[in-house]
This record gives sequence, structure tokens and C-alpha cells, in this order.
Amino acid sequence: MSGSATLGFVGIGNMGVPMAAHLLAAGYDLIVYDVRPEVAQAFVDGHGGRRADSLADLAESASIIITMLPNSDIVEQVVFGGGGGSKDRLIDALTPGKTIIDMSSSAPTRTVALGAKLADLGIELVDAPVSGGVKRAEDGTLTIMAGGRPEAVARCRPVLEAIGERIFETGALGSGHAMKALNNMVSAAGLIAAAEALLIGRRFGLEPDVMIDVLNASTGRNNSTEKKFRQFVLSRSFASGFSLDLMLKDLTTAVKLGHDTDTPAPLSSLCRELWAAADSQLGEGADHTAVVRWLEALAEVSLEALPNSDEGQASEAS
Ligand code: NAD
Repeated sequence: MSGSATLGFVGIGNMGVPMAAHLLAAGYDLIVYDVRPEVAQAFVDGHGGRRADSLADLAESASIIITMLPNSDIVEQVVFGGGGGSKDRLIDALTPGKTIIDMSSSAPTRTVALGAKLADLGIELVDAPVSGGVKRAEDGTLTIMAGGRPEAVARCRPVLEAIGERIFETGALGSGHAMKALNNMVSAAGLIAAAEALLIGRRFGLEPDVMIDVLNASTGRNNSTEKKFRQFVLSRSFASGFSLDLMLKDLTTAVKLGHDTDTPAPLSSLCRELWAAADSQLGEGADHTAVVRWLEALAEVSLEALPNSDEGQASEAS
């Protein structure tokens, strides 16, 4: 399919920009839409492709439509309308045989319901959320977890391969979204655990930079100790490109999945509560790594490099 199909991409945000850019680089004809026309236009000016004037315009041109949107509410609004916003929606121009790939981190049960509604109209839905963050989206090395009918996933595979490095077929529709929420629950718990260790260690007199080195060479290592603390916390940038409210959404999805499946998951619930408290304190727009700022305030100790310490230089250099 590479290069010949017209693809539509809805949601030109932190992740959408690099993902859509990889589709253009793979030779696809691409039409993009964002509720903020200026970001869609900036993408077209910088990378190429065309900007759709409306969702209906995009649905008419594209045979496969990718959504990379904040949550299930917005995915459903984009497809079927509602929510008190504009009357523009994809469904008005979607004809049978077209496919939607929802690459957002959506709620699995809602994905299953959306898929059933679309199937009645002859439209296929595949869920294919991603892991790896903005950096790996830029590098084209995202992990993708794809759920849906095997034939549908197979049809979408070349598109997914243009965006990601490892594509896992997780099972029926919704399984990708379930897996994504569970992954982020593990990731969020790892970040909090490492932050608490660093705060305790600092109070005892250990240097954060030294602790990160030791953790990364030891069994306490995780993705946050390797890819987040030095880069976004010790550097004080708190700018990973993944917002705290999106992380909280994923944790809420994971905890609900625990309830729905009658699985006791006390640590997951506590972890979600911590992130919810941080979200309400830090407010809209906070990066998810800023959860450490909130923990620092609770502990009344900062991981910031001490003045005249060479720790700050080491952080900046990484
Ligand atoms: P983002 O907020 O940067 O981008 C979302 C985009 O959707 C924005 O450009 C916004 O204007 C657009 N949008 C919102 N409502 C819309 C509507 N009604 N119609 C059209 N466009 C609309 O978010 P992001 O960080 O790119 O994340 C997107 C999805 O990917 C989320 O579900 C998130 O949980 C998931 N995700 C993010 C990361 C990350 O590191 N940022 C990593 C993996 C998964």
C-alpha cells in the first residue's frame, strides 16, 4: 500500500507532528486536520502534505484515517460529532470500506463500542496506540500495539511500520488500548518509586546525579531513571512533551480496567491517586515529569543541583 493510498491524520499535536512526518517520508499522500488550523498549517508548511478544511473534507479524500487525539471523548466527537462543538465530523463523508486507526491512548471499552457502531456502517476500526514518547516518535522507533480483526490489522501494517519500529498484534479490537494503559501504569509507578528513592537519598545526603548513575547500573533501573530524571527533572526543564493530564487519563483507564475485570490492584489505585493529587495541584499544562516537583514539595526537599555543585553541569550535558 506504501505510497499509493491517501491517508488522513487527525490531531497534529506533540506526537502527531513527528508521526505524520514519517508517513510523508514513506511516500504517502497525506491530508491533515487539527481543531487548531494554525498547527495543521504549520505542519504542511514545514513538512508537506495538504491541510483539510474540515473533518468531512479529510474523510472524503482518505481511505485510511489515523486519529492521534487526547482521549476517547474527543475521538468519538471527531468520528460521530456531539459534545456541543461544531457540526463537522468524519462520519458524514466516510464510505463503507474505509478504515480508522485510533493511535490515541483511548479507553478500551469505548473503543469496542465505537468499533461496533462503525462496523454497522461498513467502516473498520483498528486500535494502535504507541509507546516511546516524542523522542521515539521523531526517531520513528515507537512501539505500536495493534488490536482489531487480523485482516484489518494486516492491511494497516505498512502504515504502522512507517511510524513505529516494533508492531505487536495484541488481539481483538480494544486490546491495544488496554495494553497501552497497563504499560503506562507500570511506567507511572516506576517514576514515582524512583522519585521517592531520590528524595529519601537526598535527605540522607546522597547526590541525585550519583543515585541516578547507581540505579541505572543496578536492579532499580527503569525507563524513568534512564530516560527522564537526568533529562527532564535534574535539568529542571520538566518538558518531556507528555502532559500530566494525559498520564492521569491513562492511569484512570488502567484502574477502571482493573475494576471491570474484578482484579484487585491496590498499588495501581494508590498510584493513580498520587498522580490525581499532583494534577490538581500543578494545574493544566504541567508536564508529567513535574509530578516530581509535587513530591519535592511534599518532602520539602529539592533534587535541584546545589549551587557550585558540578552536578548541574552533568545534567545539562546529558
Ligand atoms: P497533544 O495535546 O499534544 O495533541 C493532541 C492534538 O489533538 C492537539 O494538536 C489538539 O489541537 C488536537 N485536537 C484536540 N481536539 C481535537 C478535535 N476535536 N479535532 C481535531 N483535533 C483535535 O497530545 P499528544 O501528546 O500528541 O498525545 C496524543 C495522544 O497520544 C494522547 O492520547 C496521548 O495519551 C497519547 N500519547 C502521548 C505520548 C507523548 O509522549 N506525548 C506518548 C504516547 C501516547
